[in-house]
Amino acid sequence: MAHQKDTVLVVGSLAFDDLEMPTGTFNDVLGGAATYSSIAASMLAPVRLVGVVGADFPEAHLRSLRQRGVDTAGVERQAGQTFRWRGRYSADLASRETLDTKLNVFADFRPKIPTAYRQSPVVLLGNIHPKLQLEVLHQVDKPKLVIADTMNFWISGEPAALDEVLRKVDLFVINDEEARQLAGTHNIVRAARVIRARGPARLIIKRGEHGALLFDEQGTFFVPGYPLEEVLDPTGAGDTFAGGLAGYLASVGEITPATLRKGMFFASALASFCVEGIGPKRLLAAEKHDLIGRLDEFTRMVDYGGTLGFED
Ligand code: AMP
Repeated sequence: MAHQKDTVLVVGSLAFDDLEMPTGTFNDVLGGAATYSSIAASMLAPVRLVGVVGADFPEAHLRSLRQRGVDTAGVERQAGQTFRWRGRYSADLASRETLDTKLNVFADFRPKIPTAYRQSPVVLLGNIHPKLQLEVLHQVDKPKLVIADTMNFWISGEPAALDEVLRKVDLFVINDEEARQLAGTHNIVRAARVIRARGPARLIIKRGEHGALLFDEQGTFFVPGYPLEEVLDPTGAGDTFAGGLAGYLASVGEITPATLRKGMFFASALASFCVEGIGPKRLLAAEKHDLIGRLDEFTRMVDYGGTLGFED
């Protein structure tokens, strides 16, 4: 009999994104870090989502999440408008600029974890105010794994609260620029050591198309980005990576150095679907066999048929 999968609790933003891409402008695109994370995690395990939307957020978006096994009972609907983010990407998609952030109903968001969600073995704290991340941790019963993300805004604006988050999470997931900023050093390996000394035993540093590095008690591990000929929109790739990893770990139910390493391939493969479409479109269309195809490709990509060393 197949074992019962653990559930992932995702807390964070649901949004409308207005995306100025080299290929054109796309308005009112479904977005938000928690949206991307829960779509990715739901490919692998049951998900519970906590966030807030405004009166303008179509019920159809929530319905499509539910159809994928995302419990949306924790998504509050408030009078007012949904959080909106507007960004402009460079021609090579390597960088982006935030043009506008309208917090709207997200401004007063205080995550309320429904009683039925309190025992969630895997908790993914999306990029929200670190004080709210701590409030979530006060409301849950000893999860097996707490994963957290953050962003430059909180690193510079809320260092004390973020330090407390760092002391309370098991796995911290950030991108390379944020790691440098947080550690105050340019070298990524040194930055990882500095950040881990401040709390999280495990740290993942995401490097966009260049993959991601894991630093843990067993050393350093690397997963490549899946090589793609066409990338349309990197928005949400990092959140997809974190959600995919959380979903994989919940599906196996065990958090070990080996499952973390294997999970990073699932995370990277899911992030590759995310960037192939505008918003979460391609990720939403990805099916299990698509994922299996990319995992097989990964296996071939890193297998050179032997053990590294001199022949003697
Ligand atoms: P990523 O590309 O992984 O950094 O995630 C982009 C997503 O994060 C977009 O869908 C935005 O709606 C959302 N986002 C942007 N700024 C914020 C913010 N200040 N707080 C929460 N979510 C945000």
